[in-house]
Amino acid sequence: MRSFIHALPKVELHVHLVGSAGVGTVLELARRHPEAGVPTDRAELERFYTFRDFDHFLKVYWAVQSMLKGRADIHTLVVGLARELARQNVRYAEVTVTPHNHITDGMAGDELLAGLASGRAEAAALGVDLAWCFDIPGEKGLVAARETLTFALSERPDGLVSFGLAGPEAGIGRAQFAPFFDAARDAGLHSVPHAGETTGPETIWSAVRDLRAERIGHGTSCVEDPALVEHLVLKGIPLEVCPTSNVRTQQVASIETHPVRQMLDAGVVVTLNTDDPPFFGATLEGEYLAVAAALDLTPAQVARLAENAVLASFLPGSRKTALLEEIADVVA
Ligand SMILES: [Zn+2]
Repeated sequence: MRSFIHALPKVELHVHLVGSAGVGTVLELARRHPEAGVPTDRAELERFYTFRDFDHFLKVYWAVQSMLKGRADIHTLVVGLARELARQNVRYAEVTVTPHNHITDGMAGDELLAGLASGRAEAAALGVDLAWCFDIPGEKGLVAARETLTFALSERPDGLVSFGLAGPEAGIGRAQFAPFFDAARDAGLHSVPHAGETTGPETIWSAVRDLRAERIGHGTSCVEDPALVEHLVLKGIPLEVCPTSNVRTQQVASIETHPVRQMLDAGVVVTLNTDDPPFFGATLEGEYLAVAAALDLTPAQVARLAENAVLASFLPGSRKTALLEEIADVVA
């Protein structure tokens, strides 16, 4: 199964750029920015990087964020992610970038865009096509929403395909962001908010109705509402399921008890993703392997998950067809 999963050409639809920084990348950043106080010794950094609990995860996340000062740092981050994706035979990824956080930290918008563009070019040379989702950090409110929208629409960098919303869900209603999503959609960006990761199905309903979500980030709690599951199936709205992330953040007890089983049984379009892979000790191949083992899936069922990700992506039709044909060749 491991070699079969590796052979499948894969697509990743839910990975945060800052959260994708592996130890090698962070080591490079820490040596470039020793003033940040992040360990510059590999063994020490690996200890710092080992997942302990959610608070420690946030500490590591913001330590990485604090070392992103300019285009070279963004380039390092993007290329580090691309190398890791190439190693796993991931051909295409839609990567979430949070411009508001970088700009608030003092990076010029032009520096961010230059790093994304040069990193994306190097990724393509490695055989990994990258697209961007610019997302609103929900906890920063409507000011951040306006800034994210303005930046996305005025800059409109190559590869920008979607508009997102992340951060804590409790007390941060999705509906207040509707005008920003309306404007993003009018400009041709796809709507991909997080919802139902840390709150119930009502948040997913709001993402669907108020933000016209075309995919849902996580959507874990949908299984609590059969009418919602039916709606997701009927409308073909895919879920970006991140099993290991959900276990690490204690939204579910284990992969074995993850509602991905009920989602698949109900006919929901499930895609597997990593969220913040090195922070959670996850890889995309590992997610496929863990779900295949937990649900006792056949190779054909695993291939179906890879197909779902291709179909749920915002790739052009011709690229989707080519990837689906490659998957079929692996299955045959
Ligand atoms: Zn996420």
